[in-house]
Amino acid sequence: MKRNTLRRAAPAWPALGRKWLLACVAAPLLGADAAHAADLDSMKAEALENVGSRSKLVREIMDSLFSFAEPGFQEFETQRYLCGILEDHGFKVGRGVAGMPSAWVATWGSGKPVISLGTDVDALLGMSQKPGFAGEAPLVEGAPGHGEGHNSGMAAILPAALAVKELMEKHKLPGTLHIWPGIAEELLGGKAHYVRAGVFKDVDVVLFAHVGSSLSTWWGDHRGKALVSVEYRFEGESAHAGGAPWKGRSALDAVELMNIGWNYRREHLRPQHRSHYVITEGGGQPNVVPHRAAVWYYFRETDYDQVMYLWDIANRIAEGAAKMTDTRVSWRVLGSAWPRYMNRALAGALHANIQQVGMPRWTEEDQALARAVQRIVEAGDQGLVTKTSSKLEGVERIPDGLKHEGGSDDIGDVCWTVPTGHLSLPCNIPGVTMHHWSAAIAMATPIAHKGAEAGAKVYALTILDLLAKPEIVRESREFFDNVQGRIRAYTSFLRPDDKPPVWLNHDLMQRLRPAMRPLHFAPSKHSSYLDQLGISYPSLTPAGNSSPAK
Ligand SMILES: [Zn+2]
Repeated sequence: MKRNTLRRAAPAWPALGRKWLLACVAAPLLGADAAHAADLDSMKAEALENVGSRSKLVREIMDSLFSFAEPGFQEFETQRYLCGILEDHGFKVGRGVAGMPSAWVATWGSGKPVISLGTDVDALLGMSQKPGFAGEAPLVEGAPGHGEGHNSGMAAILPAALAVKELMEKHKLPGTLHIWPGIAEELLGGKAHYVRAGVFKDVDVVLFAHVGSSLSTWWGDHRGKALVSVEYRFEGESAHAGGAPWKGRSALDAVELMNIGWNYRREHLRPQHRSHYVITEGGGQPNVVPHRAAVWYYFRETDYDQVMYLWDIANRIAEGAAKMTDTRVSWRVLGSAWPRYMNRALAGALHANIQQVGMPRWTEEDQALARAVQRIVEAGDQGLVTKTSSKLEGVERIPDGLKHEGGSDDIGDVCWTVPTGHLSLPCNIPGVTMHHWSAAIAMATPIAHKGAEAGAKVYALTILDLLAKPEIVRESREFFDNVQGRIRAYTSFLRPDDKPPVWLNHDLMQRLRPAMRPLHFAPSKHSSYLDQLGISYPSLTPAGNSSPAK
């Protein structure tokens, strides 16, 4: 193994090559290996410094995306801002990728390996929240907010990529950096379209970042779910509901009957399944028989076949409801996700660097905010995580009966397409409720800033490992082909004509943007978003009271 590595490593490191070659000629193999390791170590030290010098950028990206708070398919301020930074640093940016206007892919460099860095960027509806404030307090009533923390990933990825780019230029290292945002992840709406459009065609490995409360990684199978998101639209006949209701055919009746049918069937589905719906259209006023109505379902199960099974049952129930009401039904896919499965070789590389970087140093203020929020959401009094786990978690297969977690993430489609590693960023407070205002509180505070900087360091070190040690890329591919690949091959839930539902959230944001725009973070005038909002850190008094009590 070492010998092969040596032969391969020399051409991959041209700037170091002369020194490297001399070492090879002059020294026995082990000595040359040591020289190579020393080169890598010194570059890693440089990378840590480079990331450390970008703390301000980490904070700016974190706070800017927090203030934009754009929901799925409307991430246009986010796109303008991030693509601007990348273009200023020489990245080539393609916008409107895969038929999604708010999507983009940025690339820099040339040749192999192609290292792809991705993370979600979308906010959640109704989650607007003041940061650093222990209590429910919307910034803009009814507006979206980062009630999970998708504003954190790019605050780690961009500074890491820029730090590594500087080293690649200086040492003339070949390789390509490829960066993309998870568009509409909360709708499971974007990544299957990226995969179908060939965004990962030339990519060797993906490193994916997601907000969490620890600096950690894992590999293999996951307890979460695959999913398909389908909207059923019924069409009937309108009529005067008082004057001649017999002339009408109610599409809303069909929606209700479909839901009743599904809820009866629910008892006879596997306990691993999850399904839920919202009625997105149900008529305008009671005296008009609703001739149009729609219901939007998520069907979740442990794997592709089980999801397809649920979807087929639902289609037949929908057709039954249409028959009962003399209405017509059609359906469209709004999102989908494969179950997650992460790469062992990439997790190993990330894990080693996590050990080197370690958790951020929290201040008393950070811990006080965390404990205050934890008390509100009844998550104990644990404070922030202070240590990384020395154990790398992972397992090839989790027995199907043990897959009880309900969540999904469309990174699933990516990780069945290309070897993918997962880095959890310690930006949020342990125990907060996801998709809830409590999960937004830390996300534009020093907790999130420090968490993302730690993540950026792990990212930078891991990218250098991938550039310097081709065996990691090779091992990740072997695991992908021979371990993960033996489980099954990827088939998209998307049918050939399914398009990304880019109209979602459009009208809502048209209404909300005027109220949200004045609250965008202005880094030229303020050192942080907390500073801009005049929130002293931490504010531990009940929500709505602006006088902080430390
Ligand atoms: Zn997420």
